[in-house]
Amino acid sequence: MNKEKVKIRIEKLKKEINKYRYAYHVLNQSLISDEVLDSLKKELSDLEKQYPEFITPDSPSQRVEGKPLKKFKKTEHSVPMFSLNDAFSEQDIYDWYDRIKKLLPSSAKINFYCEHKFDGLAIALEYENGFFKIGSTRGDGKVGEDITQNLKTIEAIPLKLFDKKEIFDALLKEGLRDIAKSLEKEFPSHLEIRGEVLLGKKEFKKINEERKKKGLLPYANPRNVAAGSVRQLDSKITAARNLDFYAYELVTDLGQKTHEQEHLILKALGFKTHSENKKVSTLEEIFEVHKRIQEQRDSLPYEIDGLVIIVNNNEYFEELGFVGKAPRGAIAFKFSPSEVITQVENIIIQVGRTGILTPVAILKPVKVSGVMVTRATLHNKEEIKRLGLKIGDTVIISRAGDVIPQVTKVLPNLRTGKEKNFQMPKKCPVCGTLTEEDERGIIVRCPNKNCPARSQENLYHFIGKGAFDIKGIGPKLINRLLDEGLIQDAADLFNLKEGDIAPLERYGAKSSQNIVLAIQLKKKILFNQFLFALGIIHIGEETALVLARYFQKKFNLSKNLSIQKLIQVSNNFTKEDFEKIPMIGPKIGQSIYGWFKDKKNILFLEKLYKAGIQLMPVKEIEKKGKFTNQIFVITGALDSMSREEAKNKILNQGGKFQETISSKTNYLITGKNPGSKYEKAKNLGVKVISEKDFLKML
Ligand SMILES: [Zn+2]
Repeated sequence: MNKEKVKIRIEKLKKEINKYRYAYHVLNQSLISDEVLDSLKKELSDLEKQYPEFITPDSPSQRVEGKPLKKFKKTEHSVPMFSLNDAFSEQDIYDWYDRIKKLLPSSAKINFYCEHKFDGLAIALEYENGFFKIGSTRGDGKVGEDITQNLKTIEAIPLKLFDKKEIFDALLKEGLRDIAKSLEKEFPSHLEIRGEVLLGKKEFKKINEERKKKGLLPYANPRNVAAGSVRQLDSKITAARNLDFYAYELVTDLGQKTHEQEHLILKALGFKTHSENKKVSTLEEIFEVHKRIQEQRDSLPYEIDGLVIIVNNNEYFEELGFVGKAPRGAIAFKFSPSEVITQVENIIIQVGRTGILTPVAILKPVKVSGVMVTRATLHNKEEIKRLGLKIGDTVIISRAGDVIPQVTKVLPNLRTGKEKNFQMPKKCPVCGTLTEEDERGIIVRCPNKNCPARSQENLYHFIGKGAFDIKGIGPKLINRLLDEGLIQDAADLFNLKEGDIAPLERYGAKSSQNIVLAIQLKKKILFNQFLFALGIIHIGEETALVLARYFQKKFNLSKNLSIQKLIQVSNNFTKEDFEKIPMIGPKIGQSIYGWFKDKKNILFLEKLYKAGIQLMPVKEIEKKGKFTNQIFVITGALDSMSREEAKNKILNQGGKFQETISSKTNYLITGKNPGSKYEKAKNLGVKVISEKDFLKML
């Protein structure tokens, strides 16, 4: 390739790479694979190495380059970067409106522009002749720090604005003909815009997971990580963080009349702007948008902490002027806070599926980010030490993104003197085995492989079909809840709040609401399903039904059935009672008897009672079933059910079950490897049916 051809090839490569960058980082569309993009970049960088004279400032290769800085240069803002005053309630918005209305002509028709208030870092970007020149932090509003090299690593920030023709077409498409025409005549050589650098929730989570692997504590919120990342002296560190950028202010006068137009122009220039911003004309509409976005907040890909409400007429906005550093014409309408103060009422120990003992703070219930939170993991004893936390302390609880609620700070000045120190227990609180520490003395573990805390199987059974049958919960969620220390046993499920579930992976506000609702709906449960849910050995669905009826009859429970009553009568159980239960037999009877004699199980029942579980009596056996007065005998093994289940199915249909064949037997059900009964039945003329026939009859 001759030099001229190389130059053309480089230009084409840059354009192509930029096209994919724009699609992916601004429009959120993936047009080609990472591998293809990488090979395009590789070819470009190889050519540039050979011909450094062709390197331009907008080349993708220029995003990450240069040596780490010693310190940042200061840079003065052409127009001060303002901050916003906050509004926390609808009343605050009414008051704000009253204030600005008085300052504007009485004929003024005020529209508002509502946009996400990103929880990131505000920055200013300056372009010279279309090329990205200087990027700076807000600083004190007048003077910021030059972080250009770091900002170049952010792919959502264009190194070069769109070409004039592209901008012109885009503006026409948005209906901004006048602005398009005037820009076509004269495009300003210097252009400044502002926006927010932020870290997406996904990236944030990834960073925290990596920290966890290294044994480091997770960061509390993405904003701090974003702010820390753009202020790295080594831009390679910034590049690794995959930051994002949204533009929201056009500083240079391009003829824009409204704030809405600023967004449209920014988009036409090639910046990423938020697509869900909304122009409204009444305060009621503002409240509607605020409510809607607050509900969507958890499912957004990044953190926001409210809405920015801006007077949409730039002339009015100017006229309203400033109070201190904040413009009167805009206000931050905050969502309910993601950091609040509450008290640690207790610290309990959760034993996880892997046997790790995790201290968990039981909190005085408090709303964080709009959802109720009652507990927060304290991770390990080192973290308690680091926080200096005592039981009874007033603490700051933070909740951000996918991070579960965290105790981020203790306020020791608010102590009364009654606070208590916390000690990790020497024994596993679940099974009593002496605990072991890891070599660093941080992780405490129950070494007992058979520790009941480790068996999540009971929990799966409890929520499963035929038992509590809770919709929308599966083993995956159960595992997460156990891992995060949110539940220890099935009874804890009924105390879960939306705020406990929402921060877990992929559970937004809506779905966590549904899960909590699904659990609460099952607080009323049929007695037989309840008995089945307990997971007593040998108690299948059918046996549970027989047992429920037996209990109801023997202890006269039908009228005042409750878990408490069940606990009471279980005191009077004798082994003989159970062994004599019709259709149950001594083996199963002993299993049931043993279960109710185990103190741990009674404690579990009490916990379920306190959680509000109500039992509903089972209907008595209907005299008329399909099998009324029909006598069944089984021989061989059945495929679809145990003998016991088959027996109970027959009984539940009003039939009778016998072990031996007689001339009175109506049906012999034959399973695999039938015994001598088969011959006998034939001799006696008893009807022989297969398992399939039996199932059909059912
Ligand atoms: Zn244990």
